[in-house]
Amino acid sequence: MNYDEIFPKIISHAKEYGFIFPSSEIYDGLGAVYDYGQLGVELKNNIKTAWWKAMVQMHENIVGLDSAILMHPTTWKASGHVDAFNDPLIDNKDSKKRYRADVLIEDQIEKYNQKSEKDTIKKAKKEGWEPGSTEYNGFLQNNRNAQKAQEIQKQFEDALNSEDMLQALYDLIIELGIVCPVSGTKEWSEVRQFNLMFKTQLGATADSAMDLYLRPETAQGIFVNYLNVQNTSRQKLPFGIAQIGKAFRNEIVARQFIFRMREFEQMEMQYFIKPGTQMEWFQYWKEARMKWHQALGLKADHLQYHEHEKLAHYADAAEDIQFRFPFGFKEMEGIHSRTDFDLTQHEEFSGKKLRFFDHEAKESYVPYVLETSVGLDRTFLAHMSNAYTEEDVPTAKGDMEQRIVMKFHPLLAPYKVAVFPLVKKDGLPEIARSIIDELKFDFNVMYDEKDAVGRRYRRHDAIGTPFCVTVDYETKDDNAVTLRDRDTMEQVRLPISEVRDYVAKKLSWREILG
Ligand code: ATP
Repeated sequence: MNYDEIFPKIISHAKEYGFIFPSSEIYDGLGAVYDYGQLGVELKNNIKTAWWKAMVQMHENIVGLDSAILMHPTTWKASGHVDAFNDPLIDNKDSKKRYRADVLIEDQIEKYNQKSEKDTIKKAKKEGWEPGSTEYNGFLQNNRNAQKAQEIQKQFEDALNSEDMLQALYDLIIELGIVCPVSGTKEWSEVRQFNLMFKTQLGATADSAMDLYLRPETAQGIFVNYLNVQNTSRQKLPFGIAQIGKAFRNEIVARQFIFRMREFEQMEMQYFIKPGTQMEWFQYWKEARMKWHQALGLKADHLQYHEHEKLAHYADAAEDIQFRFPFGFKEMEGIHSRTDFDLTQHEEFSGKKLRFFDHEAKESYVPYVLETSVGLDRTFLAHMSNAYTEEDVPTAKGDMEQRIVMKFHPLLAPYKVAVFPLVKKDGLPEIARSIIDELKFDFNVMYDEKDAVGRRYRRHDAIGTPFCVTVDYETKDDNAVTLRDRDTMEQVRLPISEVRDYVAKKLSWREILG
């Protein structure tokens, strides 16, 4: 099974097992809005915990925050979102479908990159090159399709930096002959700007009502609380404020499942630093964040840094961590050096001083900010993609069958242990239940007695449970159980009293974040 073909399978697997459902599905759903089901919520919570642990609990100088979604509307004037939180959109006149002009071009680049990779694999097979060898990498970067991708990338960057960006993007779409994926035609409208914020109102009557926005990012809740947190936590620079929460964007192109949603969650950390130290911290956080993704099991060759084509006017450095989703390398996290832009803007609009008094230098200044901003849902999708595996395995009878196994990192898996009685009688369910009652204080566990044990293994492979424990007749005599490992399918016999420690060792934060 080719990795770039598994996307539809992941979507149906997510629905079938209760990871993700389309929102309000009984009314035919709502575009780009999704609900997390019984397994999804566990996986999502485990990702949040892993982030919170790594960012807040492992750093003495980073504290948490949970700010409100609704904020005073001036916040969004000050941050620049009212005037400039726009995406360039283009309509196809035949299909009446609307697209993001930059995304249409990025997709074109990705097509050439995928072709280049396929060509390289073919060539490597013929020539006997190892993936990663000098010949392999040389061909990967220099074949016809790779060069075409690089050429368009350069044109794209020029267009984004041009004086008349909208016209330049339009011209490039025409020059590349990009067609609408629905109508297949090149009948494009001009490119226009579209503000992505959702508006709502505070107050009951039309006269007294106040226009509000649903926050399009969690960061501004941190900036407006900078002084509150600094004063009450008595932190000195550098220090960080971290937050996990919902954000809303009226995305033009709603597609690729939970990759681009209208309601999503961000995990953001703003690190307040002394001006002039931003490049040092930029490097530090780039590496730290990449390490976190790898520690949780995302494959190293599916992760890469990507420099921004165009820096926002207030940023002096910005890179993304991209993950190779089945539809290509795409942004999962942004690391941005935002200078003193946000705090200075809020000083100006609020009239309140947002400074830090540096006792050593005996001066006060507006701190600079280094931000790490990762999408929770995109991280979720990365782990679903990374984990999804189809394997041919032998059955108890000796013939082969296919299993779908979600190879999540044990710390992220929705359930850690499933406990089965071999049969539903002779006291075995009672023993299994007593094991559950022991383990449930430490782990999320599940009791399962339906069907043959083989079927139960398959069910738990499909939801990624790393350990299955079976209680059999011998358990009554030796107080031991069979523990089966999800990935290797190896089984070990363990005294019941040792199961907890065995599992706990595989879930050690020290191992992962140490
Ligand atoms: P994109 O270019 O893909 O629209 P962005 O650069 O606007 O993303 P940021 O504003 O840097 O994204 O937001 C930080 C992170 O929030 C992103 O790296 C991504 O993981 C997540 N994110 C942003 N928009 C969405 C969305 N519509 N759905 C899901 N996650 C999102």
